[in-house]
Amino acid sequence: MNKIKMTTPLVEMDGDEMTRIIWKQIKDIVILPFVDLKTEYFDLGLINRNETNDQVTIDSANRTKELGVAVKCATITPNAQRMTEYNLSKMWKSPNGTIRAMLDGTVFRAPIIVDGIDPFVTTWKKPITIARHAYGDVYRDTEMRVDAGCKAELLVTFPDGSTKKQEIFTFQDDGIILGMHNTDKSIASFARSCFTYALDIKQSLWFATKDTISKTYDHRFKDIFAEIFENEYKDKFESTGIEYFYTLIDDAVARIMKCEGGILWACKNYDGDVMSDMLASACGSLAMMSSVLVSPDGKYEYEAAHGTVTRHYYKYLKGESTSTNPMATLFAWTGALRKRAQLDGLSELEDFANRLEKASIETIEEGTITGDLKSLLKKEKKEVVNTENFLKAIATKL
Ligand code: NAP
Ligand code: MG
Repeated sequence: MNKIKMTTPLVEMDGDEMTRIIWKQIKDIVILPFVDLKTEYFDLGLINRNETNDQVTIDSANRTKELGVAVKCATITPNAQRMTEYNLSKMWKSPNGTIRAMLDGTVFRAPIIVDGIDPFVTTWKKPITIARHAYGDVYRDTEMRVDAGCKAELLVTFPDGSTKKQEIFTFQDDGIILGMHNTDKSIASFARSCFTYALDIKQSLWFATKDTISKTYDHRFKDIFAEIFENEYKDKFESTGIEYFYTLIDDAVARIMKCEGGILWACKNYDGDVMSDMLASACGSLAMMSSVLVSPDGKYEYEAAHGTVTRHYYKYLKGESTSTNPMATLFAWTGALRKRAQLDGLSELEDFANRLEKASIETIEEGTITGDLKSLLKKEKKEVVNTENFLKAIATKL
C-alpha cells in the first residue's frame, strides 16, 4: 500500500508515564501503517526536561511558532514527590504553562461524542467547546482579612507619581477584601484566539460576562471582544455563516442547558474553570475530552485533556496489562494531522484524519471499549479490552 504523504513536519512533543506508552502504540498501530509520518521530535518526558534544564520545552514551543502545528503527549508537572522519584535538579514548571505563555494561547476543550455514551443534558446533540481565558482575575488576585473599623480603598499610582483613590468599603464588622486585575493585551489575545478558532471549526461563538454588575471590569471584556469582532472578524463570520453572540453569564448558562451544542463558548478565567469541569462530567469522562491550544495568530498545539494516568503506569511497570483509554491522545494526533493537511492542502491526509476518528468512534459504538467506558456505554454486548487491542480493533476497521 502507498502511504499517505506529508510535506511539513508536525512538532511532536513526547511526554510521560502511561501516556508515553500509549503515544508509541498510537503511532505504531494506527498511524505509521498508513501515513509516511513526518515529525520533528522533542522529548518532553521529565527525564529529558531535567537533563536539558527544560530547554527542550522552550525549543519545542519556538518550533511550534515556526511550523504552526504541534501534537503533545501529557507530561508530569513536578511536585515534591516527583523531585525524589526522578532525582530532579529543580522543580520544573508545568510544560503546558510554559508553552501556553510562549504561544500566548487559549485552550479549547470539547468532548468526543459517541452514540451510547449520552451526555446527562439530553438536549446536547453536538459537542460544546469551551475556551477558558488563562490569565488574571481571581487567579492573580491579592486578598486580605480586615478588622471592624477599617476603611479599604483602591489606590492607583500613575507613572508620574500622582495617585487616584477610590473607597471600596468602610467596615463596621470584620471582613475580607480582594483586588484583581487583567490587561487589555491579554483579553485581546484571548478574543482573537476565540474568533480564529470559531472560524476554524465553523461554529458560532458565545461570550458572556457580568457587565451589568461589573460596569468597568467585565464591561472592558465585552468592549474588547466587540471592537475586535467589528474590525477584524465580522465579514469572515458572515461569509462562514456563523455568528458572534454576547450575553450575560447567567443567561448563557441557561441557554447552554437548552441548546443542542455545536457552539464555541468563551469563558472568563473562573467561569471557564467551573464550566469545563461541568461539561466534562456531564459528558462522561476526562478520557473522552480533546484539547487544543490556539494562539491569536493561528498556531495550534493539540493534546489530551487528561494527565499521564500515573496509577495505570505503576500497574504497567509491574507487568500488568492496562485498559487505558487512548481516545483523547488519538484525537490530539488526528486534530494535528487534519490541521497540517488543511494548511498544506493535502486532501488525502485530511481524509485519513477524519476516517481515523470515525473508525475509533465506531469501534466504541460497536462495543469494543476500554475499562473506563464500561459503566458509561449503554449497550448490551460490550467487551473491555486492553489499550493495545483497542487500537488494533480501530486499525482493523480503518
Ligand atoms: P490523570 O492522569 O488525568 O488521571 C486521573 C485518573 O483519571 C486516572 O487515575 C484514571 O482513573 C482516570 N483517567 C485519566 N485519563 C484516563 C484515560 N486516558 N483512560 C482511563 N482512565 C483515565 O490525573 P492525575 O493522576 O491527577 O495526574 C497524573 C500526572 O499527570 C501528574 O503528574 C500531573 O502533573 C500530570 N498532568 C498532566 C497534564 C497535561 O500534561 N496536560 C494534565 C493533568 C495532569 P482510574 O485510576 O480510576 O482508572
Ligand atoms: Mg477546575
